[in-house]
Amino acid sequence: LLDIQNIHKAFGGNVVLQGASLNVMPGEIVGLLGPNGSGKSTLLNVASGFTRADSGEVRFEGQDISRLPAHRIVHHGMARTFQLPSMPSKMSVLEVTLAADTRLHGVWSTLLKPSAVREAEAEALQQANQLLDSLLLTPVKQLAASAISGGQKKLLSIACALMARPKLLMLDEPTAGVHPNLRRDIVQTLQRLRAQGISQLIVEHDMHFVREVCTRCIVLDRGQIVADCKPEELSSHPQVIEAYLGRAAAQ
Ligand code: ATP
Ligand code: MG
Repeated sequence: LLDIQNIHKAFGGNVVLQGASLNVMPGEIVGLLGPNGSGKSTLLNVASGFTRADSGEVRFEGQDISRLPAHRIVHHGMARTFQLPSMPSKMSVLEVTLAADTRLHGVWSTLLKPSAVREAEAEALQQANQLLDSLLLTPVKQLAASAISGGQKKLLSIACALMARPKLLMLDEPTAGVHPNLRRDIVQTLQRLRAQGISQLIVEHDMHFVREVCTRCIVLDRGQIVADCKPEELSSHPQVIEAYLGRAAAQ
């Protein structure tokens, strides 16, 4: 589904990705792990078109999308969330969710007949309400999106990504800052999405979450992939131990 090959990226003299490659097959939930600053978010930014790599290739369903901008990539069926979502202040939670429906984006909706636009709008409203409900955001759906809590913004950004009806959902630390009770709901939501055929690439630090949700794990350390294994093999993987404990212990 997603095939990232040999990505190099430096910001000025700061070399962040050094030949990182990974793939996500249909039906997988792949966890992307690694220490702070190892390049996880940068790799998601490259895959989703928010950052142009210095070299390397990103393919989605076999098609080279390395040079496409983010707003085009989302139409190919890949949607993502951000580690620290920021939300517009003048739109409600429900309006922000509705605005994420790619079929209603200006230029695309002008290609539809008025009756088809009305139909798409009605469907979008139903889908938005369902998603907000499943992510426990119904009580805040009329509030300004900028006024809800940080954890609720994370959930809202998941709802927005799903409004694009992606084949691949990429999440950057979906449970960071989210209350443990809600984490359960996120886990269930992601598993349900997988059952519906939505593959996932999830950046995550929480090992419990990774063991519960992910079907495979990839570990990034200093811009290179150092492990690609099953979640249960993580704790016995020497390079993972080095990435997580070795340098910390040495410091
Ligand atoms: P964390 O677990 O803390 O989120 P991460 O693995 O997601 O870390 P990245 O956010 O990818 O790490 O950052 C890796 C390195 O790239 C950092 O040194 C960061 O300063 C640098 N970096 C990322 N984005 C930019 C940018 N737009 N401009 C300059 N440097 C950047
Ligand atoms: Mg990050």
